[in-house]
Amino acid sequence: MSFLNIDELTGKIFTGQWTRAHGGDAPIVNPSSGAEVGRAGSSNGQDVAEAAARAAEAQKGWAALPFVERAAILHRAGRVIEDNGAEIIDWFKQEAGAAAGMAGFNVHVGGAECFEAAALASQPYGEILRSEKPRLSFSRQIPVGVVGVISPFNAPLILGIRSVAPALALGNAVILKPDPRTAICGGAVIAEAFRQAGLPEGVLQVLPGGVEAGQQLVADPNVPVIAFTGSTAAGRKIAEAASTHLKRTHLELGGNSPLIVLDDVDIDAAAENGAWSAFLHQGQICMIAGRHIVHESVADEYVAKLSQKAKGLPVGDPLQREVALGPIIDAAQRDKIHGLVTSSVSGGATLAAGGTYDDLFYRPTVLDHVTQETPAYNTEVFGPVASVIRFSSVDELAAIAANSEYGLSLGILTRNPMRGLEIADRIPSGIVHINDQTVDDEAVAPFGGVAASGNGSRVGGRANLEAFTETQWVTMQAEPARYPF
Ligand code: NAD
Repeated sequence: MSFLNIDELTGKIFTGQWTRAHGGDAPIVNPSSGAEVGRAGSSNGQDVAEAAARAAEAQKGWAALPFVERAAILHRAGRVIEDNGAEIIDWFKQEAGAAAGMAGFNVHVGGAECFEAAALASQPYGEILRSEKPRLSFSRQIPVGVVGVISPFNAPLILGIRSVAPALALGNAVILKPDPRTAICGGAVIAEAFRQAGLPEGVLQVLPGGVEAGQQLVADPNVPVIAFTGSTAAGRKIAEAASTHLKRTHLELGGNSPLIVLDDVDIDAAAENGAWSAFLHQGQICMIAGRHIVHESVADEYVAKLSQKAKGLPVGDPLQREVALGPIIDAAQRDKIHGLVTSSVSGGATLAAGGTYDDLFYRPTVLDHVTQETPAYNTEVFGPVASVIRFSSVDELAAIAANSEYGLSLGILTRNPMRGLEIADRIPSGIVHINDQTVDDEAVAPFGGVAASGNGSRVGGRANLEAFTETQWVTMQAEPARYPF
């Protein structure tokens, strides 16, 4: 028996059971072949409002359960994901165009997020405070109620479950709105994992839908906290809308991360890091290194080795054969990538590899001799494009690397890690990897960007306790307090 019964899910949303959406349904398309692989329910305002009211009711019983019961369900959900990894990987290939490695990474982190959240459920959740009065004074982290999670298409399992699992562990109900293009990997997989793990009905609801469903979730009075992962443009709109409702938002947004290659590196290792951080999942990862900032003394060799790698990487349908890169998610995104590459070349950049495509399969691309004005260098491409810029001094390097509206991840390659850390101190970034490239994620680590990459909130590790609770001050004393009047 398969983990997902696709006939059962077709055209449905998950409200605790699989039910038809008031908003109808929408096709899910395999980007490699253009074939319809299924239909997801398409939530409208009524679906969201009903789900939010249901969630607010279900949350009370969930929060009242002993923590060990919540932890057990989270643990079981992690096992369900791991045990059904092979089937989930297949869905990733079909629906998200992910190659086996990226699909497997989603399964691994998806399971780990549940295990880590199970552990979070048993952590201390407050502090004993000193008080000027003879009483017990403490603070405790209490559930917020209903958390709304809005996720993108690119790493749909990780980017949904990294908020869903800790929010549930801390006693909240959750409404997840995945991107409609990845309603299976980013929605049905998570819904089924928790349903099969025995989560009470209504505590997690999964409502695929478009922008309007997301807007409705942000506006709903039953949903006080929104965890959003997606583009900076959408994040800004969500922050604006949430502020009128005085809601808290956790915004994990776009990036254009620098990979810095100093003059003392092993250039083969550097090119390997460069290729991985630029081309993994066709460059459709927020932490991807779009900006390769390379010391002028090693830049020619770096570009040669990176281009050689780019030319040799297999690109194709991950369901049919083993590939390094699958398809771009859709034609609009491919056209955006190609537009940035062609305008960069006509603006003076050298095309060292790639720059061509076949259907949605875009060849890994290397642009050399870019400037800070080159479109593919100074914009988030969200495609498999490495732009190489050269520097001569550390001051120049630090100024170039810091000159970006984003601040998500930073990779620095050098034989002298301390020198790397000193450079990192000069570049605003939520994540720093010294002697590694920019793309990484672990359930135990805090994740988030600064500036246009996010609002500084963090998910992951201990940060989850703050993200998905309210802090309440409590005092207790034996007798009623007395006052002068
Ligand atoms: P997007 O912002 O267009 O969509 C993301 C999600 O938000 C989708 O579910 C979409 O339906 C919903 N949405 C869009 N506009 C909305 C609105 N006004 N109100 C409510 N919901 C709305 O994102 P995309 O372009 O499809 O995804 C790629 C972007 O996501 C890139 O910029 C990438 O860097 C970013 N991203 C960031 C992270 C991170 O952790 N920082 C991770 C992955 C992707």
